Amino acid sequence: MTNINGKTRTVGLIGNPVEHTLSPFIHNLLAEKMGINTAYLPFQVKTENVKNAVLGAKALGLLGNNVTIPYKTDVLPFVDILDDEAQVVQAVNTLKYKNDQIYGFNTDGYGLRTSCLNNGIIFEGKTICILGAGGAAKSVAFMCAKENIKNLILINRTLETAQELRSNIHKYFDLPIDVFTFDDIDSHTRKNICFQTTSIGMHPLIDACPIEDPAFFNGMEWAVDIIYNPSETKFLKMALSAGVKALNGLEMLFYQAVKSFEIWHEVVIPNQIVGEVLLRLCDFAYNRTIKEMVK
Ligand code: NAP
Repeated sequence: MTNINGKTRTVGLIGNPVEHTLSPFIHNLLAEKMGINTAYLPFQVKTENVKNAVLGAKALGLLGNNVTIPYKTDVLPFVDILDDEAQVVQAVNTLKYKNDQIYGFNTDGYGLRTSCLNNGIIFEGKTICILGAGGAAKSVAFMCAKENIKNLILINRTLETAQELRSNIHKYFDLPIDVFTFDDIDSHTRKNICFQTTSIGMHPLIDACPIEDPAFFNGMEWAVDIIYNPSETKFLKMALSAGVKALNGLEMLFYQAVKSFEIWHEVVIPNQIVGEVLLRLCDFAYNRTIKEMVK
């Protein structure tokens, strides 16, 4: 974000809270590397102002917005055209204002899938377990369902939410899905990959973990926590202690941002720039996170 002038196009993040977001760092660095005249800003929006924020951003001629917690579902009524992914997941993380229309996309599934594939995670024929059934879990579950997996196990504090997610997946995919609460699970049930999508373990409550029994990790190949702050959640620490490979959520965040950037600016970011910005992000995020954690 070096030279703001009369032609600068603005993009921003709508959410609450937004103080700790890494998105401005990613988007403004991508813009600089791509030579695109755009600026990305965080907008903390109160619940009662979500409609005004979306319509106001359109009226002000913003190029688009990212949408984050807790508004990914709340913005749906204001979208004119939903892409397939957002339609299926019923959540939007990317808005684009073009030709007097509001377009809604969801790039979270793309972000996670790209992150997993880049790290050598293979889905085909696997038993996948998902902890959580909230907004992010929906994207994770649909991403997995598209990957020719063997079956899904959904575990959530509130059973009804997980059952609702199962019903939604069954509208589109014929896939065996078992649903449990954390109190009902048998730790020894075989699973190849486990995605941790609850908010448990996120900074500052870094000693919390939705799983207490170390046996839960026996026989697992990959543990993926979509939380990226801290870089190693208690869930990932337990997985690593059990000899399971571990991946955090930073690359997911990064690749969902890459896709949003490509949607807004109608470009394809070359692999070299993607790689450079990802490295810079890791450095920026984890230096910063360590400082925050020792506070
Ligand atoms: P959400 O819609 O509010 O869902 C939260 C989930 O966590 C629900 O399944 C909820 O269970 C569960 N949960 C919350 N507190 C709990 C507790 N004390 N005990 C047991 N379960 C609890 O939030 P979200 O949008 O899915 O986000 C979840 C996490 O993913 C956040 O940490 C967020 O930062 C992260 N995330 C990361 C990325 C990325 O790009 N890396 C993208 C999106 C989200 P109930 O249904 O029982 O309430």
